Amino acid sequence: MSRMSERVAEKVRQIKGSGIREFFDIAQRMEGAISLGVGEPDFVTPWSIREAGIFSLEKGYTSYTSNWGLLELREALSDVIYKESGVYYEPEGEILITTGVSEAFDLVIRAIVNPGDEVILHEPSYVSYKPCTAFAGGTSVCVDTGVEDEFKLRADKLEETITERTKAIILSYPNNPTGATLSRKDLEAIADVVNEHDLLVISDEIYGKLTYEGTHVCFSSLNGMQDRTILLNGFSKAYAMTGWRLGYAAGNKEIIEAMMKIHQYVMMCAPITAQMAAIEALKCDEEVERMVSEYNRRRRLIVKGLRDIGLSCFEPKGAFYAFPSIQITGLTSAEFAKRLLMEEKVVVIPGSVFGACGEGSIRCAYAVSQYELKEALERIERFLERGRVV
Ligand code: PLP
Repeated sequence: MSRMSERVAEKVRQIKGSGIREFFDIAQRMEGAISLGVGEPDFVTPWSIREAGIFSLEKGYTSYTSNWGLLELREALSDVIYKESGVYYEPEGEILITTGVSEAFDLVIRAIVNPGDEVILHEPSYVSYKPCTAFAGGTSVCVDTGVEDEFKLRADKLEETITERTKAIILSYPNNPTGATLSRKDLEAIADVVNEHDLLVISDEIYGKLTYEGTHVCFSSLNGMQDRTILLNGFSKAYAMTGWRLGYAAGNKEIIEAMMKIHQYVMMCAPITAQMAAIEALKCDEEVERMVSEYNRRRRLIVKGLRDIGLSCFEPKGAFYAFPSIQITGLTSAEFAKRLLMEEKVVVIPGSVFGACGEGSIRCAYAVSQYELKEALERIERFLERGRVV
């Protein structure tokens, strides 16, 4: 028999592992490393949420839930979405609870894509979209965004990319890795194109609550967009609940039903403990505000710090990432990240991981303490200084 790797499906073999994990694994084994690598809150889940999880276990809630997720959670989500964005989703049929936005994205792409369908994606963007689209048999068509446009997806560039095979576009703002956001006006221009070309929109709004300038506008709240949009959101970032694995999708009944068909066979349901904790999370506005204010302070600190040491840096308006240019060093983003890790023990992620147009920049997650941020900045400065001398 030939090598085992040859038995792995072609589709899977062709896709590279996540470039983020690679750095994370090296850093975990390295003493004294500071990680601006993984996009994960450094806060522990707020106590009242943890307590709700513990309490549910004490009460013996250890079973499966409905495939759709607990009705109480779907009702609470329906209320919160309506209160925050004025969009009403039926708790029964239009909201599906998933194991994170990760699962929700995989479900939606599998539910709508036929082989050869095109899905438009703005880059730089989150690393999972392209592989999941490929696993589903779809083709990702990328639209570059750049600092000159504040990393916004421009409606005219979007329109140029549409073909008769285009099924959907992925909108991911506030953006990972750039921290860019879109204003209502930007979104309306995109909505016009979507309408004109009769497209679906997968809107990943996981960083919506982490918006520091202006207000986050839910794409489905725009005129005529509710039926075309599959809204994805979750608890990982805003509630510091990455390990609980909980998210949701909301949208048109028929699409959500199709997603549910896949979900019931591959996942059955999201974990009950996480669902019970999430009901409590939705009451924790103050805790979320406290964490968001702290991210905002760190955002100012890192942007100023990076600029002070000579790196030009787009001012992120949301999420918890800074995306400075490292072009002045003459290094590729992968060389920069590798050398910085080996020489100064600071983890950053090469911009190229988020799409070819991310080359020339690095992603620095500022979900670490201000103390660590200052230390990381000093180490980066030392690294840059050494480069100048050589
Ligand atoms: N979407 C974006 C834009 C992300 O940055 C991430 C995680 O980094 C996810 C989705 C995955 O989130 P979850 O933990 O809910 O699966």
